[in-house]
Amino acid sequence: MNPDFLIIGGGIIGLATAFRLAKEGAQVTVVERNIVGAESSWAGGGILFPLLPWQYAAAVTDLCDLGAARYPDWVASIQASSGLDAEYWNCGMLVLPPFDTDTAQIWCHQHQWRAEMLSARNYLPEMTDIDALWLPDVAQVRNPRLIKSLRGAVSALGVQLMERTSITALAGDTHHIQHLDTTNGKLLAGGYITCAGAWSQGVLSDFPPVKAIKPMRGQMLLFKSHPDLLKQVIYRQGIYLIPRMDGHILAGSTVEDVGFDKATLPDTRSALMDTAFELLPALRTAKLVQHWSGLRPGSPDNIPTIARHPDVDNLYINAGHFRYGVTMAPISADLIAEVILGKTPGMDMTAYQWNEPASVP
Ligand SMILES: Cc1cc2nc3c(=O)[nH]c(=O)nc-3n(C[C@H](O)[C@H](O)[C@H](O)COP(=O)(O)OP(=O)(O)OC[C@H]3O[C@@H](n4cnc5c(N)ncnc54)[C@H](O)[C@@H]3O)c2cc1C
Repeated sequence: MNPDFLIIGGGIIGLATAFRLAKEGAQVTVVERNIVGAESSWAGGGILFPLLPWQYAAAVTDLCDLGAARYPDWVASIQASSGLDAEYWNCGMLVLPPFDTDTAQIWCHQHQWRAEMLSARNYLPEMTDIDALWLPDVAQVRNPRLIKSLRGAVSALGVQLMERTSITALAGDTHHIQHLDTTNGKLLAGGYITCAGAWSQGVLSDFPPVKAIKPMRGQMLLFKSHPDLLKQVIYRQGIYLIPRMDGHILAGSTVEDVGFDKATLPDTRSALMDTAFELLPALRTAKLVQHWSGLRPGSPDNIPTIARHPDVDNLYINAGHFRYGVTMAPISADLIAEVILGKTPGMDMTAYQWNEPASVP
């Protein structure tokens, strides 16, 4: 029997969409070119908060606020279904200058994030005595663990995962998709949902208006230390350190417009290491265990598209979450499911429509 929905792409957005639709009782198949969760969703840092959110449009911060607020319950239901810990951790985040402290504090107050200016030395004893913004309610999740847990949860709900299967074409006319052509034959369903991350524009190229989504590379380093070395996310001028519960520490990340190129560069490794050691000198004794890169689904102003195609009645998109797809996943999945199922979405969807393309900055 054909499923109700075929989801193109098994990153966090595709899996979260499958989880929500399956909970509604739908038959869902996720078609993934590689194995699920091996692209941007694996590579990301998992901070559940935008970096300097006061610099973003409300269309971004609204989704991030709602996503972050849903995380504890969302992760709990995924873990209950899969039995696997996603390592959700309310660890807090320290933002070091330079940034506009007045604007930051006003934004935090308006968005009901607790925030306090304090000496950076409270958390980084070797730092010079500067004022920093402490955000005690910022949480993180360990991406690879979340993906494993989500995988188990959707499987427990009967979602079929077709891995190592690439979509080669969406076959249909200007009003309706008939089937998908894949490397494993033809697939049919009632509705088709594109969650192909950085590859979404290519997947949808025969169905204008073309989406302006393109890859934006991020390189990341992973150190192995001990759990007491760092217990908060630290951010300064585009670079962050993220501690994991077992003593691993991530240092990232770059934002590079280099196409579908996942190379990791020695110069970038040196630059990231220098910044990481400046922020946390004790990290010099830690072992560098990995250097990787991932391709974020870059979109204009970081605003994802969560919508039905304007003309094709059974084609949907949930993609283009750029720097905050992990944070936005629970709310973005809820919203696309509400659109698909004909329910009234819980928020104004104007900003997330399938409009004419704009260029990615
Ligand atoms: C270095 C880095 C740090 C990040 N840090 C954070 C952070 O701290 N917090 C945060 O919220 N976000 C962060 N992000 C962003 C976040 O990871 C992404 O926004 C999110 O993972 C996007 O999820 P996705 O499912 O849309 O894309 P992906 O995970 O890339 O999944 C898309 C999937 O589609 C599949 N696919 C593509 N084409 C086809 C096809 N033709 N047929 C079948 N399958 C196909 C791909 O193989 C892939 O598995 C970071 C990203 C990076 C790279």
